Amino acid sequence: MKVSADREQCIQVGNCMLVAGEVFDQDADGIVVVLTDEVSGEQVDRVQEAVNLCPAAALSLTED
Ligand code: SF4
Repeated sequence: MKVSADREQCIQVGNCMLVAGEVFDQDADGIVVVLTDEVSGEQVDRVQEAVNLCPAAALSLTED
């Protein structure tokens, strides 16, 4: 599954980091950074949770 983030949409809340810290980080301004754009197994569930929790709808998880 492919992970992407729209950094223009991100409002720096950090929910994504809390649920999937191995996939998402924040830069010095608090804007999301995707650390790995391919996920599988249990990571998919955590990334899906991050997608659901993002208040800005900035994250997406799609089929390769
Ligand atoms: S949860 Fe959404 S708004 Fe918050 S840091 Fe992550 S991408 Fe940005």
